[in-house]
Amino acid sequence: MSSFRTVRGMRDFLPEDAEKMRCVQRVARDVAQLYGYQEVITPVVEQYDLLAAKTGEEIRERMYAFKDLSGRKVALRPEFTASIARLVATKMMTQPKPLKLFCEGSLYRYDEPQYGRHREFWQVNYELMGSDRPEADAEILTLTYDLMEKLSLRDYHFKIGHMGILRGILGQEHVKEEQQSMLMQLLDKKRWNEALKAAQGLGVSNHCLTVLKNVFETWGKDAVKVLGKAKSLVEGYENAVAAIENLKEILELTRASGAKFEMLVEAGFARGLEYYTGMIFEVFVPRIDVALGGGGRYDKLIELFGGEPTPAVGVAPGIDRIVLAMEKQGIFAEAQRAKRVQIIPVKEELRVKAMEIASALRQAGIPAELEVMGRRVSRALADADRRGITHVVVVGPKEIEEGKVVLRDMQKREQKTVEIANVSKEILGETA
Ligand code: AMP
Repeated sequence: MSSFRTVRGMRDFLPEDAEKMRCVQRVARDVAQLYGYQEVITPVVEQYDLLAAKTGEEIRERMYAFKDLSGRKVALRPEFTASIARLVATKMMTQPKPLKLFCEGSLYRYDEPQYGRHREFWQVNYELMGSDRPEADAEILTLTYDLMEKLSLRDYHFKIGHMGILRGILGQEHVKEEQQSMLMQLLDKKRWNEALKAAQGLGVSNHCLTVLKNVFETWGKDAVKVLGKAKSLVEGYENAVAAIENLKEILELTRASGAKFEMLVEAGFARGLEYYTGMIFEVFVPRIDVALGGGGRYDKLIELFGGEPTPAVGVAPGIDRIVLAMEKQGIFAEAQRAKRVQIIPVKEELRVKAMEIASALRQAGIPAELEVMGRRVSRALADADRRGITHVVVVGPKEIEEGKVVLRDMQKREQKTVEIANVSKEILGETA
């Protein structure tokens, strides 16, 4: 046995796991197409300064950063948004708006490996650029809802807030942007008391401290109620009031689009990524206490990277955690009932016939595998069973003479002799 192992936090995906990942990615890609998001591919290695600019202290400290052989300071991307914003700022500025971009791939963060947390993980991203209107935010929420539905996930809820509420309050209290970001990091980790103490240390008014404390305690499933209460709390903080109005409009539009997900609206919700400026959200399912995906509005990032001022909103669903949730909900087990056929020739002379039958089945859209190990029927059947094959076609000399084969249903453990021309219909259950 080799003593080489995967590096801590890194994983191999064996066929069963790889298939689950690809299954989620396929659905994610279908959703991109349904909403008109076009794929872009950006490099895994980027300039350190680009990735570090607005990603937030926590991620910044955990980047895989190194010097390349020419001494350039580079890093493995810890998220996609910076790369997409760079791409738009440098190469797509003249393209008509809105720009709707999709991407997928692996990301790297030196997190402590634990349940649902790895050092290499996978995301898909949807970014809608060029619109500051609430219908753009609503589209991102609706698209995320559609993705969850198409994946057959159940019981999920969206936690939703707006960066403008807290930033609006703090800005009016003359707290600098970097210090606001430091407070957001604390709030992202639910360290409310520490955040209040830190705000006090930054010299905000006593009134502000009371407002902040009340805002942190304002959350619930009834968006109208939560936002109504929040609005009265932040009275006098103009930008915070505007943020609440904006969120209200976004949620009304989202509901009107028919997206029926459960919401938990939190007035004091903050996310660790520093570039968010507006609506923010995360998706959760029961029994997994980390978010499956997160997103929000970031109106200043493209400008920061030297592009024209371009408002943008996006979402990053995490593939690994979606797979975890689907496993927990037994969704893959349901999907695994898909047909898989093995064709076993009884004798060498029947190999060509077996290949013809395999081709015909694939033509009919049925996954068909040929026995390529030259095993006897009994051993090939045992192997098919082990690999989850649903049907076996045994190509034997007597049956072939009559234009027939033996079709075995591996789950029911029954077999019958059928006309070759009818094999696919029998497998698909289309015969009377
Ligand atoms: P973020 O970029 O931090 O907003 O994360 C968006 C999504 O990426 C999360 O909701 C997770 O699904 C996924 N994600 C982030 N970090 C990790 C990690 N270390 N391991 C697995 N998935 C992650």
